[in-house]
Amino acid sequence: MDRLAIVVPCYNEEEVFPETARQLTERVKDLIEKQKIAENSFILFVNDGSRDRTWPLIRAEFEKNPYVFGLNLAGNVGHQAALLAGLMTVKDLADVSISIDADLQDDIGVMEEMIDRYHEGCDIVYGVRSQRKTDSFFKKATAQGFYKFMSAMGAKTVYNHADYRLMSARALQQLSHYEERNLFLRGIAPLIGYQTACVYYARKERFAGESKYPLKKMLAFAFDGITSFSVKPITFICVLGLLAILVSLAAIIYALVVWIMGDTVSGWTSVFASIWFLGGVQLLSIGIVGQYVGKTYIESKKRPLYNIESFLQHDEKGQAEEKAEN
Ligand code: UDP
Ligand code: MG
Repeated sequence: MDRLAIVVPCYNEEEVFPETARQLTERVKDLIEKQKIAENSFILFVNDGSRDRTWPLIRAEFEKNPYVFGLNLAGNVGHQAALLAGLMTVKDLADVSISIDADLQDDIGVMEEMIDRYHEGCDIVYGVRSQRKTDSFFKKATAQGFYKFMSAMGAKTVYNHADYRLMSARALQQLSHYEERNLFLRGIAPLIGYQTACVYYARKERFAGESKYPLKKMLAFAFDGITSFSVKPITFICVLGLLAILVSLAAIIYALVVWIMGDTVSGWTSVFASIWFLGGVQLLSIGIVGQYVGKTYIESKKRPLYNIESFLQHDEKGQAEEKAEN
């Protein structure tokens, strides 16, 4: 039987914690009863430097609840890093992990389906929101625009998937090889490979407390997502420069024609043509320098180039053997 670890990042979640711990414990017990997961499965609450009573609550729960584990970060590092801390902690303890937000806006009912997909051979299972009835119009519009924009900018993400996700131990192992500082987990997961699946659910409202993602944090998150995954913005500058040069060539021809026809103020032609042409050359040059900077940036992430799933080889005796990596 496989040991499951549910990873829950918590930042100032004292209002929701008791209820969340209760519901998740019920869920784990239920899954154990149905023989879907091992009896030593657990829930890991990661305290992301909360300033309220979240950590004392986690500790108290740990003392009386055998299914609860706690990880206390020394300070607030943000949702993504806190989640990663939790995942990296469980990668050697558990066979499979599920990450979920502390407010349980994501339906814990589909965990069973996630586990089923895992048993069918999937290493990553994405929880995908099928509807957002309860989110405000503003949140819906901005979030949806965000996914569209992300994919237009070249970052692969699963539409309407946040961080409610099952990952097997070997997927976590591979995740640990991504050493970048700018974390955008939901963009990295699709790069890992392996067989994946999606399960669908309706997203609920936060039952207590308030969102820890105000607009400012959301915008920063979006900017991070785009700039960590693509250097397309730099390419735009190059294209803009090229366009300016083309326009300037057309303009030079036009200016020459006007000049030949003697229909212009003296000096206008050369000034007009050189401004456009130089402007274009400058933009293009900045863009090209940018391309190198962008490459350096991508290189500096030291991302793994590939992930081997298995290796078929014959040993000296000519016997076939399959070696699973990780
Ligand atoms: N969170 C965190 N560190 C932070 C901000 C948020 O660990 O600095 C956690 C928070 O406790 C919650 C999850 O990240 O479990 C998602 O936050 P929230 O529900 O407020 O975001 P929303 O659902 O409004 O996008
Ligand atoms: Mg939430």
